[in-house]
Amino acid sequence: MFEQTVAKYPNKEGLVDLRLGTRWTYREWNDEVNRMASTLLAEGVDKGDRVSTVLFNTAEFATTLFACMKIGAVFNPINFRLTSQEIDFIIKDASPKVVIFEKATAGSLEGVASESPHIDFWSIDEPDLSYARYYYQMIEGSDTSRPDCLIEEDDLYAIMYTSGTTGTPKGVLHTHRDMVDQALVLTATLRLTPQDRGLTVAPMFHCAELHCTFFPRVMVGAANVILHHFDAPAMIETVREEQISTLFAAPTMWNMVLQEDFSQEDFSTLRQGLYGGAPMAPALTTRLHEALGVQLLQAYGMTEMGPAITALFEDEQISKAGSAGRALINHEVRVVRTQENGPSDPDDVCAPGELGEIVVRGPSTMKGYYNRPEATEEVMYKGWYHSGDIGTFDDDGYLWVSDRVKDMIISGGENIYSREVEDALFAHPSVVDAAVIGEPDEMWGERVVAYIVSKEAVTADELEEYCISSSSLARYKRPRRYEFVDELPRNASGKLQKFKLREQFERHI
Ligand code: AMP
Ligand code: MG
Repeated sequence: MFEQTVAKYPNKEGLVDLRLGTRWTYREWNDEVNRMASTLLAEGVDKGDRVSTVLFNTAEFATTLFACMKIGAVFNPINFRLTSQEIDFIIKDASPKVVIFEKATAGSLEGVASESPHIDFWSIDEPDLSYARYYYQMIEGSDTSRPDCLIEEDDLYAIMYTSGTTGTPKGVLHTHRDMVDQALVLTATLRLTPQDRGLTVAPMFHCAELHCTFFPRVMVGAANVILHHFDAPAMIETVREEQISTLFAAPTMWNMVLQEDFSQEDFSTLRQGLYGGAPMAPALTTRLHEALGVQLLQAYGMTEMGPAITALFEDEQISKAGSAGRALINHEVRVVRTQENGPSDPDDVCAPGELGEIVVRGPSTMKGYYNRPEATEEVMYKGWYHSGDIGTFDDDGYLWVSDRVKDMIISGGENIYSREVEDALFAHPSVVDAAVIGEPDEMWGERVVAYIVSKEAVTADELEEYCISSSSLARYKRPRRYEFVDELPRNASGKLQKFKLREQFERHI
């Protein structure tokens, strides 16, 4: 499908990398991809071999990705924000032939590079490293003709390691077909056209950016501008300078944009602002909508599903603020009763308003976790992926995501869904970010503790008073203790790392 776009739009702007200052047409991009593909073949990378990247958003990432696809190598994009131990684990698990990295990520790789002489390390920006070869020297002068490889739809395309907020990272396997299906659905959902100009600012290693927006844009022949990493002022400037019409950012990134000085004029070319990958408080959605004057669209999903499963469209943002919307075309979602032991039964469906586990089914479902049949069996039951998310459907058929099963707080025998408490706190004008967790309590089992980042000084008493006066929270859901912090631990895709808050608490006692 990449080549179909190249054939249709050879001279149209395909990829703009602001770090390199390069502007490639689709034909130039394709030449670069073919050069990389023939280099990988010449280096002995065969169909089925893994190629890992530990890269920020770079043209080299975008080139390696399609080069791997053309030769049937399995692409393994690694989260550059992980610790060196985690990256070490993933590289050993995926056992790639080649690892491509950059200066900014080299520090996490020195150990594994010295222990793994059988793996070839390529640097995209440092020509003289003792343990790595130089990417540009490798591909220089390589053949730009199309590699002669037969790739079929059921061939593996990628191994993507899940964010690991809940334990050891697991490699999610996706085929070429999975990605075509996901990209087609998103092309329709986002109503993308060749006139669109997309900005990649969320990390490309995560499938929210890669599959929900980057692939669909490439598929229709839109222009793709890439920012090396998220930075709120740079994002605002790029939207203006590059006349960006569509972009995806995690809720926490949008939140940081809101802290900047800008005018609605800066966003006048942006026809849609996409968000998802983590919950966004309704108060934040409203603030964003009003401040930017931009139409918003939310997606909910998970790496295992390709990832998008549901969407909340532009015209539903206010009336259904906080909901994850409805299933995408050809996707199914159910909320089912959880079981004491073992997986929830996908046929034991909850009534509207009843909370249960969200289970999902769709064309881009993963082919399993790499080398982990038991883990795969645990989440795939009766053909439905068990998300570990708790949610409910309302009467209109909209899905509401309440919490991760593992983050739910039980206090005095009552279930408390952290999202409800966080959303209520977010509504306070001084609150910039909020997270709640359950801390052990002798009397109640657990009690609610809130971690708050605030714009102006605000006290625990004021927040308690606010929770009471806005009467949005029942008494037992109100935080018993507030901690004021400068920032909350979040991973590269904007998800709260509550285990870090819990660890902090355990160290405390
Ligand atoms: P990942 O493993 O990185 O693919 O993350 C998947 C998880 O992120 C889901 O199971 C949800 O808990 C969370 N998530 C993703 N999108 C949303 C959303 N729009 N609203 C709330 N939670 C979300
Ligand atoms: Mg996950």
